[in-house]
Amino acid sequence: MLVVSMGELLVEIMRERVDEPLGVAGTFVGPFPSGAPAIFIDTVARLGIPCGFIGSVGKDDFGRLIVKRLKEDGVDTTHIQLLPDCTTGVAFVAYSGDGTRKFIYHISRAASGKISDGQFDSSYLSKVKYLHIMGSSLSVNEAWRKACYKAAEIVKESGGKISFDPNLRPELLDIGKIREISEPILSSCEIVLPSGEEARMLTGIEDADRASQRLLEYGPSIVALKRGREGSWIYTKKDKLKAPSFSVEEIDPTGAGDCFDAGFIVGILQGWPLEKVARFANAVGALAVTKKGPMEGAPSLREVEEMLRKKGGEK
Ligand code: ATP
Ligand code: MG
Repeated sequence: MLVVSMGELLVEIMRERVDEPLGVAGTFVGPFPSGAPAIFIDTVARLGIPCGFIGSVGKDDFGRLIVKRLKEDGVDTTHIQLLPDCTTGVAFVAYSGDGTRKFIYHISRAASGKISDGQFDSSYLSKVKYLHIMGSSLSVNEAWRKACYKAAEIVKESGGKISFDPNLRPELLDIGKIREISEPILSSCEIVLPSGEEARMLTGIEDADRASQRLLEYGPSIVALKRGREGSWIYTKKDKLKAPSFSVEEIDPTGAGDCFDAGFIVGILQGWPLEKVARFANAVGALAVTKKGPMEGAPSLREVEEMLRKKGGEK
């Protein structure tokens, strides 16, 4: 496999309407397959790159739904275990009119939180060109944290590279802990893909631009700063590049960052210049927000190529 990701697999069950809190009786829609690393890997597969996933689901309909979706989209699911004694992870989500989201998670003690030694197939990991780690997976529990560190070591020792999306939520973990658990991956990764808030959190520097420059000193060769509808800025030791976004109607922003990550790694694997990589990743991120549901907007290569042909990446 060229790309592997690992971590929490879950279904999302979301409020049908905006501004309907989780704590009142009302209607939900779902289940939608989700989990940040799962959205990432599904997008990589849809973009046509051989890829696989390491994770766990319960032996129930939610688990079967997730595995079926990943498989149908082309992900190698042979390292996803189906656990008969656990239920699949679930997140309930409510959206507010101001764009914020509230979650109730059933993850760390569900199947999503389990990772067994048997899933550590060194021969599988040693052939990987990019292992993508999500901050959310580092925060699931101690077992997953150790598993991510160990997998990163195996991949690096075999000549592969690590990409890291530090999508850790300050509401769930304090900043000191976020920095502590991110450090081993941040210092060994080739590419880090933060949002402005994440760059600020990791460095303690208020200004996202300066924070991203500083992140280069922590280890990575490339920092890809995600700026929502404003596109992305890419930093290397030599250069800074501003990649404009594509203009789309935003239906559901969930998963845009994960899809962007996928576009970015796929572009890097093609050996494209960074400008082309960033433009491609911006198109993937933009398409991701045009559908409701975390993984539903993950575009195919054909859809991305169509968007790149139609629009110049200029707003
Ligand atoms: P999340 O972690 O919630 O998935 P994020 O903060 O990691 O999100 P965003 O910056 O929201 O990531 O989105 C990633 C990329 O997707 C952006 O850099 C941009 O290229 C594209 N994108 C996101 N939202 C829009 C939008 N409304 N219009 C156009 N492009 C968008
Ligand atoms: Mg993100």
